[in-house]
Amino acid sequence: MLLSSIATAFHSFKGSSIYRSLFTPPTTGLLHISGFTLAVLLVLATNPPVLAQKPEAGTWSYTLHLQLTDTLLQVDVAINLPANHNSSTWMLFNRHIGLHDVTLNGAPAGFHRDGDTLVVDTPADEAATLQMNYTFHRSEAGSWSDGAANAGNPGVAPAESNNTQIFLERFHKWYPVVYDNFAEYLISVVVPSTHVVYGWHRETGRDKAGDNTVYRYHCTDEDVPLFITRGDIFEAARQVDHNGTHFEFRFLPRDKRLLAVSDNKPVYATSPAQIDSLLQSTTTNALLAFDWFQANLWFQETDTVRVVESSIFGLAVGMKNCIVIDRSLMSMEALDGYALSHELGHLWIGIHTLYQAKGKFFLGESVNEYVNLLSYKSRAGSAAFEQAIRNKTELRYSEKPFFKARFDQVLNQGRGEGQFELIYNKGVVFMHEFCNRIGQQKLLSIIKGTYSRPNHFVTLSDLENQIRQHGCWDQYLELFGLEL
Ligand SMILES: [Zn+2]
Repeated sequence: MLLSSIATAFHSFKGSSIYRSLFTPPTTGLLHISGFTLAVLLVLATNPPVLAQKPEAGTWSYTLHLQLTDTLLQVDVAINLPANHNSSTWMLFNRHIGLHDVTLNGAPAGFHRDGDTLVVDTPADEAATLQMNYTFHRSEAGSWSDGAANAGNPGVAPAESNNTQIFLERFHKWYPVVYDNFAEYLISVVVPSTHVVYGWHRETGRDKAGDNTVYRYHCTDEDVPLFITRGDIFEAARQVDHNGTHFEFRFLPRDKRLLAVSDNKPVYATSPAQIDSLLQSTTTNALLAFDWFQANLWFQETDTVRVVESSIFGLAVGMKNCIVIDRSLMSMEALDGYALSHELGHLWIGIHTLYQAKGKFFLGESVNEYVNLLSYKSRAGSAAFEQAIRNKTELRYSEKPFFKARFDQVLNQGRGEGQFELIYNKGVVFMHEFCNRIGQQKLLSIIKGTYSRPNHFVTLSDLENQIRQHGCWDQYLELFGLEL
């Protein structure tokens, strides 16, 4: 399975040439390849400065108001800075977004940009309200960005988008971000009624206003991703009420879907009945995976989970109650049966991991993918599970030939070059070695102890403390001596 992060702990991305040649329908191959190239640029271009980490920044409160029209996305931001906010707290922001007005307590504010960082002159010992607004434009090709980002810096667009869908999250810095900080968010999004908004958290309100719909969210978290899509591009929703959770699946209509790969050639399902049965097993697998996570990690009260198929290549994200998964990953799901459940796993694991700390991507992605494979084993059997591990050991879906890696390479791997191989493959194999040494129940108990604390940024120390408490330290140390 081929996953790498575009930007966040909860993104997945498939991009090897092997994957593309197998799974990309020839008619759209060029589009997909260029989409991948762009995403790689994004990965390289958005590495933040080291000074971004301010875990002690305290709770800031944001009011975000978005208004979408045919050609513009207008954003208004107000941030209440608490008294004694640290004036050296840096707000990361997409430096290419042109700010229209920046005011502090109603008066024009002084600010400057330092790399990705927005520095506003504020009196540190007083509470203050910082306000700003800016606009994203829709290009003729249909993508959404700030004009400046398009012209000089194609890799730093503030949103992932295509003609019909926009995805906004903090790693694109579409609003000023303090990393590793939980903040309170009051959000309203006004879209034409032809559109639907999928938010990170449960909606707190939805109203009609003329030809528009207003979506409201109120939450405390480190991020508030929003997925805005035209509503009329999907098949009729498949809705399932299951063990107290309402599931809604929105698939894109497609006249063929990948069914298998035989002799290195894609085999497609083309009849409506075949496609229907394929999607039926996708939804069934998702429910089984969800049940497994509830039972084997910890129970989370979840009233709704919405799964939306995206036409933005490379976009897959597990949000709090919404999964967005792109068409190519849906193809992968048809083949291996655990691409969608990877994103479901992020409802439990790896969303709040300290931004630039050692082991971030191991904690956020390798652990999640291994837990995902354990859930896969429960529904697909041991042989399928063992095969999935071998695929990762051998880098089966990678562009790079088989190579061996050490555990400290995995822990030190950040975003970018080598991430896919080391985090989504080798990191998972190391987890498997650890599991073989201590047993699945102990491993799950360690993971539960590490990740189940609310409003907490998980670090490698949290994991290691749990490993010690479970008496598994020696087995953990053994991982550092292995080459896998
Ligand atoms: Zn992931």
